[in-house]
Amino acid sequence: MADPNGFLKHRRAEAAKRPVDDRLGDWAEVYEAIEQPARDEQVRTQAARCMDCGIPFCHSGSAGCPLGNLIPEWNDLVRRGDWEQASERLHATNNFPEFTGRLCPAPCEAACVLSISHDSGGAVAIKRVEQAIADVAWESGTVETLPSGISTGKKVAVVGSGPAGLAAAQQLTRAGHEVTVFERDDRLGGLLRYGIPEFKMEKKVLDRRLAQLRAEGTRFITNCEVGVDLPVEKLRAEFDAIVLAVGALRGRDTPETPGRQLRGVHLAMEHLVPANKFCEGDGPTPIDAAGKNVVIIGGGDTGADCLGTAHRQGAVRVYQLDQYPQPPTVRDDERSPWPTWPWVLRSYAAHEEGGDRLFAVAVESFVDDGSGQVKAVRLRKVRVERDASGRRRVVPRSEEVEEIPCDLALLAIGFEGVEHMRLLDDLGLALTPRGTLSCGTDWQTSSPGVFVCGDAHRGASLVVWAIAEGRSVANAVDTYLTGASDLPAPVHPT
Ligand code: SF4
Repeated sequence: MADPNGFLKHRRAEAAKRPVDDRLGDWAEVYEAIEQPARDEQVRTQAARCMDCGIPFCHSGSAGCPLGNLIPEWNDLVRRGDWEQASERLHATNNFPEFTGRLCPAPCEAACVLSISHDSGGAVAIKRVEQAIADVAWESGTVETLPSGISTGKKVAVVGSGPAGLAAAQQLTRAGHEVTVFERDDRLGGLLRYGIPEFKMEKKVLDRRLAQLRAEGTRFITNCEVGVDLPVEKLRAEFDAIVLAVGALRGRDTPETPGRQLRGVHLAMEHLVPANKFCEGDGPTPIDAAGKNVVIIGGGDTGADCLGTAHRQGAVRVYQLDQYPQPPTVRDDERSPWPTWPWVLRSYAAHEEGGDRLFAVAVESFVDDGSGQVKAVRLRKVRVERDASGRRRVVPRSEEVEEIPCDLALLAIGFEGVEHMRLLDDLGLALTPRGTLSCGTDWQTSSPGVFVCGDAHRGASLVVWAIAEGRSVANAVDTYLTGASDLPAPVHPT
């Protein structure tokens, strides 16, 4: 039984981060490594703040955890020091809690009843507890390898090894199917490997989980672009079902902006992918911020990833531009009433490390230095409006134009859906107006036996949604292959 007064005794405390100077000197995760038993004691104190609500808004519903994580249960187990049982309860709903604990912006915390007001001391630090449970489990060797023990004789191909593909693959392998994951890159992990910077999640965290999947029987093939290196006819002939978890990596661009074609103006992923490959030991990156004035266009997660990366590469000065006004620092009843998701309150470790944030501005043009290289960015003050149909419009607030120096501009303004790939043409799959792949209520596309999940279906979203969709598509594929399934299906197609 939880302590209903725990939150009155202790205030919310997030995990301590390393000093900024230390962080900028390496690529390691930003959080302080705290020796035991101090770490466990700190986390147990945070878990003890949970009230075990009768209706735990954190756990599910429109604003809580898409995975239906059993948050009050494992909070109480951690409070009592039963880490092993807490890990069992956490893994019951989440294949990869060490990923979500590090990377998820935690809709569960936004939905926590204790975030109603600051008088309550703030939401339970759910993410911190989740990560600690997973890390303790790995450190103590209690993360189990769970081979199926049965064989259905059915073969499943999973295309893409990001979080959705990996979750689907693990669930289907454990259900007794023979699963092969195809990855077009040279290493596994998709966005987890080449999109997320090392300072947010060290790749050894991914590698140990991949080793678990391999030990359970999932097969992996890298450097294989399905549709090119492996024709679709062969894929269809060899596999009984296909899961498309190909992500939504087509970066939003602004080709109409004057100067967009200049050297030094890039999409964010053109910067982040080689930077991650550098961290893997692949040698110098072709797009390096060292010694440069950098301008990042976009104030979201990807922009923050570029910010932290540019500083570690040695940028002279970094500006980050956002079309929206400066967000409030505390919950605001009008703009972010509980329990709606207060995205505006999100903060990023990268913002503590430096850089100038400019709000309510948009790029007017990129300025040529005379040789075809960008030398500055012209900005105009703007506001964002919605028209009667709800469409977003960016409206100038003044005629005044400001110019800031720029040697490297990075466009981090979102993603427009699935990249063009021959595989989709050969399967006869058309994209929706949102650039994603549609499916029926059983996650099956218009091509029989071909399923979709994750960003490829939902559009660019959170790691927790990718895992939830991967788990759910596994249920659908299992049902398709065997007529019924005991696998969980935490979410449904949108
Ligand atoms: Fe605990 Fe907050 Fe969830 Fe209530 S809403 S059960 S206090 S984590």
